[in-house]
Amino acid sequence: MIEENSLSHNQRNSSSILVDRFGRVHDYLRISVTDRCTLRCTYCMPAEGLKWKKSEQLLNNDEIVRVARIMAEMGVRKIRLTGGEPTTRPDLADLVARLVEIEGIDTVSLTTNGVLFARSAQLLKQAGLSGVNISLDSLNRETFKKIARRDALNRVLGSIDAALEYDFEPVKLNMVVMAGVNEHEMLDFVELAKTNPVNIRFIEYMPFKGNQWDPAGVVSYAMMRERIEQTYDLHAMPDTFIANRVAEDFMIPGFCGKISFIASMSRSFCATCSRLRLTADGALKACLFFPAQAQLRESLRSRATDALLKLEIMRAVFAKPEGHPAPAELTALNDLSMIEIGG
Ligand code: SAM
Ligand code: SF4
Repeated sequence: MIEENSLSHNQRNSSSILVDRFGRVHDYLRISVTDRCTLRCTYCMPAEGLKWKKSEQLLNNDEIVRVARIMAEMGVRKIRLTGGEPTTRPDLADLVARLVEIEGIDTVSLTTNGVLFARSAQLLKQAGLSGVNISLDSLNRETFKKIARRDALNRVLGSIDAALEYDFEPVKLNMVVMAGVNEHEMLDFVELAKTNPVNIRFIEYMPFKGNQWDPAGVVSYAMMRERIEQTYDLHAMPDTFIANRVAEDFMIPGFCGKISFIASMSRSFCATCSRLRLTADGALKACLFFPAQAQLRESLRSRATDALLKLEIMRAVFAKPEGHPAPAELTALNDLSMIEIGG
């Protein structure tokens, strides 16, 4: 099954040279554009906060565009901008406009917490941004405040309206489901997909440095489905189980949106993982849970040639581990908080 999936993925990306030791093809680059954030989500960062990096430590737009162009030449087709909170970066729309122009890049999309997104939605649309994922973990103001350690629910709801108004495609809402915290709101989230063309994504809670993760806090994919299926008929979308998809997608008859589950803990996507991550300070991570395999910033700043950068990128891809260990061991393994990696 795994080999079959990898093979079909390879065939679709036969021009890529971003192939690792296990035959996985990498066409998806997630770029973190900042380590700063307007929220302080408990599941993402430590309570004591983090020391933000100085702006000169972060890649500038020229550097990001150069890495993206080189990686597009190597087979990357999709880019997602994330953070920290990407909309805190003043030159975000300029970056988007430059990334969409790169030959080979099919889509540039964004993951945002929605606090500031509404004010730049129009500019980002004009710049060519395709899809927007907005994180929303509760529809209750107090619960939202407890999770995000900030009072911003209304602004996030306003950003969801803006994303729909400006026709971003697709608009996805990411909910990290946590036992005893927000799991009781799952059906309210499902209802949002009744009349809105949104994809509600229920995400299993993952362990990262400093996020006080506890196995008892995880609501597994099976538990989430059971809870929803007590009320709604979930029908698997035809393409839900294709290679390198992390989400399992379902429709509910009569609903205009769809429902997805991201079972990062109870199922492993490692065998078909197509993702690479560039951190805001220029580290290249081939696996979410292992330390970075390359530090590109110094090479970029010491005028390394494209050929040399390609070699560093290929080495990083080649060093990608086959998979990550069981959830209980992940906390010890991870060297960064999620906010520092960029989701
Ligand atoms: N600030 C933006 C946002 O919140 O959407 C982008 C960065 S955030 C790190 C990217 C995604 O990672 C968000 O959808 C967030 O819910 C998810 N995330 C963060 N920590 C997580 C965890 N411990 N388990 C599962 N998902 C997590
Ligand atoms: Fe910020 Fe996003 Fe992390 Fe929340 S999940 S602290 S919004 S980076």
